[in-house]
Amino acid sequence: MMDVPLTTRTLIDRCLHLHPERPVTSLLIAGKNEAGQPVPGTHRSTLGEAAARAGQLAGALKDAGVAQGDRVATLAVNSSSHLEAYLGVSSMGAVIHTLNIRLPVEQLVWIINDAQDRVLLLDPMFLPMLPAFQANCPSIERYVVFGRDGAAPEGTQAYEAFIAGQPATFDWPDLDERSGAMLCYTSGTTGNPKGVLYTHRSLMLHALAGGHKSAFDIGEEDTVLPIVPMFHANAWGTVHCAALYGAGLVFTGVFNDGPTVARMLEQEKVTMCAGVVTVMLALLAELDRAGEAGQPYDLSHLNLIGCGGTAVPEALIRALHFRHGLRMMQAWGMTETSPLATTSNAPVGVDPASDEGFTHRSKQGRVMPFTEVDLIDDEGADVPHDGQTMGRLLVRGPWVTGEYYRRGVTGDFVTRRGKRWLDTGDIATLSPGGEVWVQDRAKDLVKSGGEWISSAEIENALMAHPHVAAAVVVAVPHEKWTERPLALVIPRGEAPKPEDLRAHLQGRVAKWWIPDDFVMVESLPIGATGKFLKREIRDQYRNHAWP
Ligand code: ADP
Repeated sequence: MMDVPLTTRTLIDRCLHLHPERPVTSLLIAGKNEAGQPVPGTHRSTLGEAAARAGQLAGALKDAGVAQGDRVATLAVNSSSHLEAYLGVSSMGAVIHTLNIRLPVEQLVWIINDAQDRVLLLDPMFLPMLPAFQANCPSIERYVVFGRDGAAPEGTQAYEAFIAGQPATFDWPDLDERSGAMLCYTSGTTGNPKGVLYTHRSLMLHALAGGHKSAFDIGEEDTVLPIVPMFHANAWGTVHCAALYGAGLVFTGVFNDGPTVARMLEQEKVTMCAGVVTVMLALLAELDRAGEAGQPYDLSHLNLIGCGGTAVPEALIRALHFRHGLRMMQAWGMTETSPLATTSNAPVGVDPASDEGFTHRSKQGRVMPFTEVDLIDDEGADVPHDGQTMGRLLVRGPWVTGEYYRRGVTGDFVTRRGKRWLDTGDIATLSPGGEVWVQDRAKDLVKSGGEWISSAEIENALMAHPHVAAAVVVAVPHEKWTERPLALVIPRGEAPKPEDLRAHLQGRVAKWWIPDDFVMVESLPIGATGKFLKREIRDQYRNHAWP
């Protein structure tokens, strides 16, 4: 067979020639209302236009001295401009480094300096950070500001002016499929962030597999709305997948609240969307509200909602199914795994809408093709795949990183029987049939009387209570048991009483797992990737007085 390199260049060719008319719709900030809140305006373009402008961007970057292997960073929300950078930067041989907009400026400075980015493409809303970058990031030679209005403050260039006059037909180089194409840093919940360098080959294999029907099921007839940001593990591969297969794209930019997302899903006839649990809880609340008001959204074309980032509550999957006729599929992965590693579907022969089906779908599921998982204990010994014994989850595969950028093979990797594995830091069980069930992140497990308690399982059970909108269970120090679980609950409607919640958990989780106390809260802190910040919550309740 011919040894044809798998590079992102194919995305440019396909968008230009095979599906140039497929729509790309972006919500941009059109102005501000009286309360100072941004107001959306709709920008419409196509995949063909994105690929042509990607050629112009590549030309401008080349003229600016950007060479193969150089890092070009983005600090941007999801938009058609960000798509152009996705396509153009990697296909010209440079590395697109997507910065997480929710990180504090000091951490962004640290990451930029670690990556030695040469160019920063940024949305205008991040200009207030410019002085900090200019003062502390000597590697950046050029700041280019996205936006159609052509505004660019001193020391920056407007994106439209930067690419103007460049031909759309860039002379794309032949690239090694194993060269770097994208760079993404983990959010650094423990210690400094670590970079993951995706190669052309890993991105394209991931996009090929991500479109498969047991994964994100994306083809030319689809319209995809990645609510997950393009800086969070490449929007879980959905953008590459859409460009590869010719699916339309909808970007909601800064407007990711439940009502706007619901409106865009309806208006743009979206068939597939993806996002973390907190975002989907907000979407569910909006769909419920509209339904109760007698004005339900028409989402009849929405075939699949991909969800992950944290354990997806079974109650959420059920609510979307029974109240709104929508299919949610859970996926598990990490920045390090591109991120799709497992997807969760009911096995053949099991009705996905039966109790058994929902039980399967609330687990993390089975591995993607070419991906392998295994379990070890803290001493590195094998843990049985019996669906019951918990162990440290290991993963390997063609889109799983084999080392960290500039750090090499750290203690996060283990070699077993001659093969390198990534130790995910997750604690899981594995069934004989290969079903992964993540119990917790190792650092979030509750250790009570020498035994492990899975906070994820308690949260899942709590969220099945009709008056619980969201629940987080954390470990709190305990004199007798070392640690005991404490539940923080955001009520839905009338606040439930602790004794009701205790009764609700009876029979759903082991008796000794039932939290010793339940605290009602209005909200909980959310981190840079849209997940509840357990570490912060744990710190806050460290001295909780047990009843
Ligand atoms: P961050 O550390 O910023 O959250 P990642 O997105 O890389 O960045 O996080 C990966 C981790 O998220 C996994 O190791 C796992 O703990 C958690 N995770 C992701 N998807 C799931 C899921 N479906 N169920 C349970 N945990 C998940």
